[in-house]
Amino acid sequence: MTYDVVVIGAGPVGENAADYAIRGSERTAVMVERELVGGECSYYACIPSKALLRPIEVRASATHLGGLPAEIALDVPALLARRDYWVSDYSDAGQEKWALGAGIDVARGTGRLVGERRVLITSGHSSREVTARHAVVVATPAPRRSSKATVMTSSRGSRCPCSRRASPRARVLFP
Ligand SMILES: Cc1cc2nc3c(=O)[nH]c(=O)nc-3n(C[C@H](O)[C@H](O)[C@H](O)COP(=O)(O)OP(=O)(O)OC[C@H]3O[C@@H](n4cnc5c(N)ncnc54)[C@H](O)[C@@H]3O)c2cc1C
Repeated sequence: MTYDVVVIGAGPVGENAADYAIRGSERTAVMVERELVGGECSYYACIPSKALLRPIEVRASATHLGGLPAEIALDVPALLARRDYWVSDYSDAGQEKWALGAGIDVARGTGRLVGERRVLITSGHSSREVTARHAVVVATPAPRRSSKATVMTSSRGSRCPCSRRASPRARVLFP
């Protein structure tokens, strides 16, 4: 199958890249995702960390104000339930719905470049190939590399200090 743009990795960067690539146009895009559409931020990082931290922060403020019980007990199961609510119980159905509504296809599996603008998608024992007419966007965390390696990147290679693996966020591979 051929798309105008193939995006490997459906985290925030991949979602935005795919959306910007086709919005208001006739272009087509597919995001290849091996885990959850939405990536680290939605399920393991930004969202759950705030869901867990906010009640604790409020408790600390309340305790500090006075006029309240000295100890406001933490309800750990309720705290974890709050986190699970905010991560949609680790279901990416909502994000997939958004992608399809935006005209972006979602392909489940691990994407790997196998040629010029050609991506092999492997899931279990099955695999299929998709081709990009214009570009392949690699929006996955970069693998660890030796200091001698050279990374070609079209982005400014911004680094987020709070990311699990600070790395250039996206590399666009043009023909
Ligand atoms: C605890 C914590 C809290 C954070 N809080 C914030 C915050 O409040 N605000 C903020 O801006 N940032 C925050 N971040 C950083 C934020 O999570 C990352 O910057 C962001 O998730 C990076 O997005 P990404 O799309 O580059 O990568 P990811 O979110 O990692 O997405 C990459 C996706 O690619 C998929 N993938 C990888 N390889 C392949 C492959 N070969 N084939 C198919 N799919 C593949 C992965 O499964 C993943 O879904 C936080 C990070 C942490 C650890």
